[in-house]
Amino acid sequence: MTVRWQNWSGYHSSTPRFRSEPADVGELGDVICAAPAPVRILGTGHSFTPLVKSNGTIISLDKFSGIHTHDADALTVTAGAGMKIGEMAKAMHSIGQAFPNMGDIDKQAFGGALGTATHGSGAALGAYHTQLEAIQIVDGRGEVREFSRQKNADDLLAVIPGLGAFGAVTEVTLRNVASYRLRRRRWTLSIEEMLDQFHTMMTSHRSAEFYYAPFSRIALFIASDLSNELAVPRPPDEDDETMATLAKVQRLTGWAPWLRRAVLKKALAGIPREDYVADWLTVYPSERKVRFNEMEYHVPIEEGSNAVAEVISLMETRFSDVYFPIEVRVVSPDEAWLSPFYKRQTASIAIHHQAGTDPMPYFNAMEPIFRKYGGRPHWGKMHGLAAKDLQASYPRFLEAKSIRRDIDPENRFVSPYIAKIFGIDL
Ligand SMILES: Cc1cc2nc3c(=O)[nH]c(=O)nc-3n(C[C@H](O)[C@H](O)[C@H](O)COP(=O)(O)OP(=O)(O)OC[C@H]3O[C@@H](n4cnc5c(N)ncnc54)[C@H](O)[C@@H]3O)c2cc1C
Repeated sequence: MTVRWQNWSGYHSSTPRFRSEPADVGELGDVICAAPAPVRILGTGHSFTPLVKSNGTIISLDKFSGIHTHDADALTVTAGAGMKIGEMAKAMHSIGQAFPNMGDIDKQAFGGALGTATHGSGAALGAYHTQLEAIQIVDGRGEVREFSRQKNADDLLAVIPGLGAFGAVTEVTLRNVASYRLRRRRWTLSIEEMLDQFHTMMTSHRSAEFYYAPFSRIALFIASDLSNELAVPRPPDEDDETMATLAKVQRLTGWAPWLRRAVLKKALAGIPREDYVADWLTVYPSERKVRFNEMEYHVPIEEGSNAVAEVISLMETRFSDVYFPIEVRVVSPDEAWLSPFYKRQTASIAIHHQAGTDPMPYFNAMEPIFRKYGGRPHWGKMHGLAAKDLQASYPRFLEAKSIRRDIDPENRFVSPYIAKIFGIDL
């Protein structure tokens, strides 16, 4: 039976000839070898790039779930890679363990997060893949392979993040931290002050990020730091109402930037300062009910402030229809060959565009700014790069490509999009 697939934002879709939800590595290996190509692995479809899209086969690893073992002293867990991040967080918290950091939502499959270098914010905190001690994959021949920091660290660094092109990840072993509580504070300041103090503000908290609503001239800064105080219930999410307000202000005042600025200034002044303490897994993720498309580039942290200033300037000169805020975060460097954070501390700048409308004029105009500042794109968010550009940004790109070839000699995992990214002739 063919069932149409589409990603979270609805921008990409396909009707694969075959869909499968194998229950074990044997069944998964059979599907990878025999089902119609290209064979793409699905997490939960939250990526904005057509990574999962396939007219051949789409495989869900939902049945590869649950915590298999854990070590209370070493603070490690071994779990199915299809497990959702939020479920994993709850299970880990119940045994006193925690992710050091999380992204904006917790709905993704852990394997999906590994596929695209999903990250949160924190100058000393890495993306999810930096927690990996070991992984089990099923390769393009249907064979089970294991990579670990201890036995074959280079291979592990080559295959993750792997865009679903380096085999299907079935099991992960993660090094965690002990459960902790965070004090989260939120306040506003002028965008000029924020950009002037960019480095200090983004690096002097355990987690720091800010949002900028177009035309507001106000940054909404969020800082989270460790706390031993008692946890209180997290205040309700205001994401939906905030987005509705921003959309309405754009509709009514989009023709007059001065009026839009004045109205936004008043609206944002009304946003209460937030200050609460809660367990880590309740602080990080939010609900994102309003659908959008997104581009996110990772630039060297020292370029962050200038890059954000240029993005804002272009947006406010040419794109008065945009009302989704810009989100800015920081991520610590790591060693994974295809990680956008490879050997450099990063400022991540994300721009968003309402789903159901064409985001490309906006994204295409912004991309040269990100590239000018040496940006590497988030693998799961829209960008226009192909192998040649990527090779120039990733010193070990060709080595990773050669390891990919060894894992998938028949190009079973290679869709037209993966071929474009890796420069593979199909
Ligand atoms: C509302 C929203 C909020 C987001 N917030 C953040 C954020 O805060 N930070 C951030 O960095 N990103 C964020 N993203 C992007 C998102 O985290 C990534 O795109 C992530 O990869 C999506 O996970 P998924 O499970 O949906 O994977 P999918 O989109 O289904 O797949 C992503 C890639 O991983 C591969 N893959 C999936 N599972 C496996 C597996 N088991 N083995 C091998 N390959 C696999 C797929 O083939 C594909 O190449 C957000 C996206 C949305 C829609």
